[in-house]
Amino acid sequence: MQNYDYIITGSGASGLMLAYRMAKDSFFDNASILIIDKEKKTSNDRTWCFWENGEGEWDELLHKSWDKILFESNIYKNTIPLQSYAYKMLRSGIFYDKLWNFIDTKNNIRFIEDTVVDIKASTNGAIVETLKSNYFTTKLLNSIDLNKNYTLQKKYPVLLQHFCGWFIETDKNLFDDSTATFMDFTVDQKRNTRFMYVLPISPNKALFEYTLFSKEVLTKDEYEGELLKYLDTKFITEYTITEIEQGVIPMTSYKFWVQNSKNILHIGTVGGWTKASTGYTFKNTSKKTIQLIAFLKAENDFTHFRKKTRFWWYDLLLIDVLSSYNHLGSKLFSTLFKRNSLKNVFRFLDEETSFIEDLRIMLSMPPLRFIVALFRRVLNF
Ligand SMILES: Cc1cc2nc3c(=O)[nH]c(=O)nc-3n(C[C@H](O)[C@H](O)[C@H](O)COP(=O)(O)OP(=O)(O)OC[C@H]3O[C@@H](n4cnc5c(N)ncnc54)[C@H](O)[C@@H]3O)c2cc1C
Repeated sequence: MQNYDYIITGSGASGLMLAYRMAKDSFFDNASILIIDKEKKTSNDRTWCFWENGEGEWDELLHKSWDKILFESNIYKNTIPLQSYAYKMLRSGIFYDKLWNFIDTKNNIRFIEDTVVDIKASTNGAIVETLKSNYFTTKLLNSIDLNKNYTLQKKYPVLLQHFCGWFIETDKNLFDDSTATFMDFTVDQKRNTRFMYVLPISPNKALFEYTLFSKEVLTKDEYEGELLKYLDTKFITEYTITEIEQGVIPMTSYKFWVQNSKNILHIGTVGGWTKASTGYTFKNTSKKTIQLIAFLKAENDFTHFRKKTRFWWYDLLLIDVLSSYNHLGSKLFSTLFKRNSLKNVFRFLDEETSFIEDLRIMLSMPPLRFIVALFRRVLNF
């Protein structure tokens, strides 16, 4: 069996970012590192958006950035300047290219295209089984969801952020590309949390993404019907669909980290790096991979990697509420944006606020459902 110091299974956002950081850090120059993925991705298979305060590490790769966002619902509408923040769009193709170009210069990092079928902890390491072979490693960083454990439990509700997006191009200039529509809840809610997300890339190009936070995905026809309806209400009738993007992101406070062991760490979405209450993952992955590099240099037992925070509780309560009262999403998010400065909302969602600031934000929300959710949780623990 081939033997490596580190194996990274899955080279999507988290696996590739981690490999890139290892490649850039001379500490790992003498370590043997293997990356396994069923494909070496180079295409625009997803579009990552995230807010960021000031300049950031991925700025040179950005497709577009906005300094204003529009929030809209039947009870609140506002175009909000982002001040020192920007809302940034990064397309995956350029990200994969840049990171692979650098990783490929390193002789100690090898890539194998193969399908992982199982991973197992073993004495002093882990074994990765693929369709073609088996590999031993001292430390395994896994970003592949091999067992979907979070779907097999009932303790933590699982909502899905699911969406279908059309990149469209028009002959006429129809879009104000200085403003991103962050959430437009004026679409028919149909007893769910549903909104349109509109990202104008230029005056005649935009991404329209019909998005839900709910338990069940829709059929292709349902997403497309809603996109057609929305474009119609905006009087956008002549356009070409240049690309389609579809996705499902789990939103849950399931404790992904219980699957970690001394020598196996789950990273990315399967490591719980997706913010449960929003589905945003990319920027967190950026932060977590930096922390992980520092951890790998200093410590040995992956069960110590995760640090408990109070934000896990807040996400849990919001998902509890949205799961029991899925139709309330529009009201909850409207209240959050109406009663708090955007900067504080971003800082809160980035888990950077103090406890006093958290309390202020939580007290600004309609309290009843949260109190009930809190009591239920306390009784269940
Ligand atoms: C369409 C889409 C849009 C998104 N947009 C945003 C956004 O705007 N902002 C944001 O913050 N987050 C967004 N996300 C969520 C999140 O950032 C991405 O899902 C991100 O790619 C997660 O990184 P990851 O490393 O956990 O998983 P992935 O990037 O999915 O990587 C997993 C890798 O494992 C490989 N793999 C899977 N199974 C096997 C197997 N059995 N054997 C070998 N290889 C395997 C895959 O080929 C893949 O390369 C989006 C997600 C999707 C799907």
